[in-house]
Amino acid sequence: MTPTWVQLVYLACAVCFILALKGLSGPKTARTGNLIGAAAAVVGIILPFIYLDLRHVWLIVAGIVVGAIGGVVGARKVQMTQMPQMVALFNGVGGGAASLVALLELQERLTAGSSIHWFILAATAFTIGVGAISFSGSAITFAKLQELMTSRPVVFPGLPVLFGGGFIAAVALAVLTVTGPNMTVAIILGVLGLLVGLLLVLPVGGADVPIVISLLNAFTGLTVAAGGYVLQNTLLLVAGTLVGASGTFLTLLMARAMGRSVTNILFGALKGGSTLGAGVASDRPVRSAGPEDVAILLGYADRVIIVPGYGLAVAQAQHTLRELVDVLIARGTKVDYAIHPVAGRMPGHMNVLLAEAQVPYEQLVEMDDINGEFKHADVALVVGANDVVNPAAKTTPGAPIYGMPILNADDAQQIVFLKRSMRPGFAGIENELLFDPKTTLLFGDAKESLGKLLNAVKAL
Ligand code: NDP
Repeated sequence: MTPTWVQLVYLACAVCFILALKGLSGPKTARTGNLIGAAAAVVGIILPFIYLDLRHVWLIVAGIVVGAIGGVVGARKVQMTQMPQMVALFNGVGGGAASLVALLELQERLTAGSSIHWFILAATAFTIGVGAISFSGSAITFAKLQELMTSRPVVFPGLPVLFGGGFIAAVALAVLTVTGPNMTVAIILGVLGLLVGLLLVLPVGGADVPIVISLLNAFTGLTVAAGGYVLQNTLLLVAGTLVGASGTFLTLLMARAMGRSVTNILFGALKGGSTLGAGVASDRPVRSAGPEDVAILLGYADRVIIVPGYGLAVAQAQHTLRELVDVLIARGTKVDYAIHPVAGRMPGHMNVLLAEAQVPYEQLVEMDDINGEFKHADVALVVGANDVVNPAAKTTPGAPIYGMPILNADDAQQIVFLKRSMRPGFAGIENELLFDPKTTLLFGDAKESLGKLLNAVKAL
């Protein structure tokens, strides 16, 4: 039995996790929320060393040290734009660890020879199978986002049959684990889980991968919760449930923001429709201009709406952008940032990026609130964004982003794109707005272009 004082500390940690999630829901409180969650996790890790009679303590400590070094070095080195694959990696190892722990726990109980309640066996089988799915699926999402493999959907003849067969076999092995627990069956269940995870994620196209990461995150959460039940550890149960629930919500919100269903994201490519476009740079003529011309457009505008996107993060141009906006505001221009929910490569990417440059939060306006404003704007300045303003989302059935709500930049009097080339955005499809007579392109790295624009506006 776990001592009462330990249960109480676990309860306090669980409350801290909930407070952490609450804190993370707003930019002003996010840092504190993160710290509260991390502190509770540290307490949760230390506690078993105090109240349990652990074996192999030094091995466990060595594991913690290696993990902590990997985590700290990784988190410090990783660029903001690589955050989704970092999350995928952390998430995958979480699922894999839960799966291994469940296997070891089963072995322990089978060796002890005591009878095991069927519900514990069901939770064990779930943890082994789904944890393995989460591990291999996350490894593939990591490889796709890190460009270690193609980010296009990988499909081959027989994949649906192999996936379906693997899934049914895994369920059958899980049932066997409950009815007649046996280590060999449990290990095969884990291996099949790895195969199912692989086949689940291979057909997913690049632009959808971050949503799948969120889904696998929910899987890991549920796995850890089930693992917590098996180990009779309340904190794991609560923490896992929180991760499972928030991951599920995030998945659904992201899918809705992209106008897609989760089944379409997971199985769209299997039905034949590619979830990624062609990705070829267009050679159709466009109107381009130099920084001085664009500075005149901006400097004499009454209302400017900035559309930030992934390229802003790549160029790390958020500080220069804020400086430019400050100068425009000082000249009497009304300026807002239009925030699309999936601009960038992860939820809240633009909010975090602009907060880093100390952009006042009031200047960030969500898509639904700003969309009606574009028609009053003299200039929509699109900085390193593409898909989130691509009218194909409204006009071209069959386009990978068809149905995704977009920012109505096309309603502005003038549209200026800051990008380096005619290459398409992440969805890989041409953007008709680049060829609109109202559109001007200022080619170049966003940071350099914004620097030149800043100087030119100051000189007006
Ligand atoms: P896009 O990927 O559509 O476009 C980015 C643009 O930035 C490109 O046109 C690129 O053009 C330009 N760019 C890249 N580097 C630079 C640079 N250094 N300087 C200037 N421009 C640069 O990004 P969006 O933000 O518009 O759209 C996000 C995409 O990601 C959507 O397809 C969305 O569905 C997807 N996605 C986002 C998720 C999220 O949670 N945020 C989750 C899942 C998917 P060029 O190469 O010519 O410079």
